Amino acid sequence: MKKVLILFISMLGSFVSKAQQLECGTRAGSVPYIFTKEKQDSINSIMAINTPYCVRVYINVLANNDGSNRADTDANILTNFQYMVNAFKSHNICFMLINIKQINNTDLNSHTIAEESELLPYLQSECLTIFIHSSLSGYNGNAYAIPNTYLSLNGSSYNIATMGHETGHCLGLYHTFQKFGDPAIQENVTRNSGNSCYNCNTQGDLLCDTPADDDGGVNGACVYTGGGTDPCSGATFAPMTSNMMAYGNFICRTTFTAGQGNRMRSTILGTPSINNLIADDIVYRPSGINSTILWNNSSEGFETARDELYISNFTNDAYNVTGAAVRRFISKKVYLKPGTHFYPTTGKVHIKSNPYCN
Ligand SMILES: [Zn+2]
Repeated sequence: MKKVLILFISMLGSFVSKAQQLECGTRAGSVPYIFTKEKQDSINSIMAINTPYCVRVYINVLANNDGSNRADTDANILTNFQYMVNAFKSHNICFMLINIKQINNTDLNSHTIAEESELLPYLQSECLTIFIHSSLSGYNGNAYAIPNTYLSLNGSSYNIATMGHETGHCLGLYHTFQKFGDPAIQENVTRNSGNSCYNCNTQGDLLCDTPADDDGGVNGACVYTGGGTDPCSGATFAPMTSNMMAYGNFICRTTFTAGQGNRMRSTILGTPSINNLIADDIVYRPSGINSTILWNNSSEGFETARDELYISNFTNDAYNVTGAAVRRFISKKVYLKPGTHFYPTTGKVHIKSNPYCN
C-alpha cells in the first residue's frame, strides 16, 4: 500500500511540474469574433444538411537539418490525433489526416512565437496545417489567431489535449477565461439574464453554457482550487475543469460544450478560410465527361471526399499520375474507375480510407 501511495504522489508531482509549462500562446485580439444572432440563425438553418464537417489536416513534424532531434514520433502524433477526433466527434466535426511530413529545418524545429511568418511557406492549402516543433518558446501550443488555418505544438511538452485545444482556437473558440480589451472586465458567474451582473454572452468565451472561469487552478483530481469570486456579485467561480478550452490539469480536459460545438460549426460555415478546410461529401474527379487530369511533374497534392471519391467516373475522363508526381486519394470510400492510370516513376500514389470520420 505504501508503495502505491508513493507512486501516486510521484505521479502527482509530475502532473504539477507539467502544469508549470506555459499552456497556450494563442492571442485572442482585443475585439471578440462575434456571430450576430441573424448570422447564427441563418447558419443554424442549414447546419444539419451535411454534417459531420470533415476537416482536412496536414501535419509537419520538424527535425534538425541533419534529420536528428525529430520533434515527435508518428505513434505519439497519432495518439494525440485520435484524442482530438474523440473530443470533436459528438459535435458533428470530424477529421481527415492527409499526411505526416518530416521537415528538416533546425531553425523551425526550435521555434518561437515571434517567428510566425517563417511557417507560412510550409502551409498546405485547403488543410489545417499543424506544426510540431521540439521547442516553442516555452509554450505547449499556439494557434496564433482565432480563427486560423494553422497551429504549432511543442512536441517535447504538449499533452494529449493540446492538439484539440489549439484546433478549437482555429475553429473559433476562446479560452473559457478569456478577457478582451479592458482586462478589468471579466465574465461573471450568473447565468440569470435578468441579473445586472449577467454578461456571459459578451465577455469571457461569449458562451453561457461554459461556466465563468478565473483560471484559478485545477488539481490532479480535476478539482478547481482557485476559490476566486467575480467582482460584480461576489459569487464564487465554479469553472468546468473538463473543458478542452480551459487550462489546468491536462488529464481532465476531454469535453466541448454544445455551445462550443455550435460556435465551431458556425465558424466553419461562416468563415471562408475555415470552410476551405472542409472535404466535400461526394467528389468526382474529373468532374464531368471529356476532360482529362494529368499530374506528371514533381508536384504533391490530393483528392479528398468525406464519403465517396470517384476517379474517372465519366466517359472520356482520364485521370493520370506519372513521373515524379505525388498524389493522395482519401475518403471513406475511394472508387477507381476505367480511365484511371497510375504509373508514377519517382513519384507515388497513396490511396487511403479515412478512419477518422465515422
Ligand atoms: Zn489556448
